[in-house]
Amino acid sequence: MKLDGKVAVITGGASGIGYQIAERFVEAGGRVAIADVNMDSAQEAASKLGDQAMAVEMDVTNEQAVNDGVDKVAEKWGSIDILLSNAGIQIVHRVEDFPFEEWKKLTSIHLDGAFLTTKACIKHMYKQNSGVLLYMGSVHSKEASPLKSAYVAAKHGILGLARVMAVEGAKYGVRSNVICPGFVETPLVKKQIPEQAENLGISEQEVRDNVMLGRTVDKEFTQTSDIAELALFLAAFPTNALTGQSVVASHGWYMN
Ligand code: NAD
Repeated sequence: MKLDGKVAVITGGASGIGYQIAERFVEAGGRVAIADVNMDSAQEAASKLGDQAMAVEMDVTNEQAVNDGVDKVAEKWGSIDILLSNAGIQIVHRVEDFPFEEWKKLTSIHLDGAFLTTKACIKHMYKQNSGVLLYMGSVHSKEASPLKSAYVAAKHGILGLARVMAVEGAKYGVRSNVICPGFVETPLVKKQIPEQAENLGISEQEVRDNVMLGRTVDKEFTQTSDIAELALFLAAFPTNALTGQSVVASHGWYMN
């Protein structure tokens, strides 16, 4: 699977899954724009990846910042071939305790971010008559979980947007697919474990054993590198047949 100079915008590319995918895309011959709200981390990530990477300051909830950032990448490298809409956060509360401001913050980063970056990128892809949209969903695009109403709602919404884009993008040669990881060892999940334990009144070990990681934690914990292989497969797939799909990678923790 090769990317041969293809240009990818990766939101939330400075950390975790997004960074690992950026690294894999560069290895496969692609060029990556690390688009992140945390510019220091984005610059550090881009400098580790060398000439095939650039850093772009982008808060995905800010339409102007998204449009300017995507246009800057297109100006530098001449096209936008791949979008990985990946920026995300996690906040856990029971619904009755969920502050509305936190609900709006989470759903805006995930869902508004996916919408705004899609809109900015398809402007270039439709002119080129080609492109790949990749969305970072989750097993929570398909199933519920206590405490994660905002996240589950946003991840279900991303699946809906991606499916619409498969339909609307088809006549422009644009494919749209969703990556649905289970629990992946990243800063986001490490922060979530103690919060979930406190909210449920159980130990962190019980969260690991019973609530989150269940069947896989002591055997195999999905790694960012597993998700990067899937992202490359979806990005580099050689025909337009693979579109409108959501692929779960969770070591069997969740099955469709
Ligand atoms: P992470 O915390 O390591 O990385 C998230 C990145 O998003 C950070 O670099 C952060 O600065 C950036 N970001 C946050 N808000 C932003 C904004 N407004 N604009 C631009 N960038 C912003 O997290 P991760 O675990 O790598 O998660 C990445 C994606 O994968 C998320 O969408 C998450 O929901 C999804 N996911 C993660 C897991 C998991 O187990 N880690 C499982 C399923 C899905």
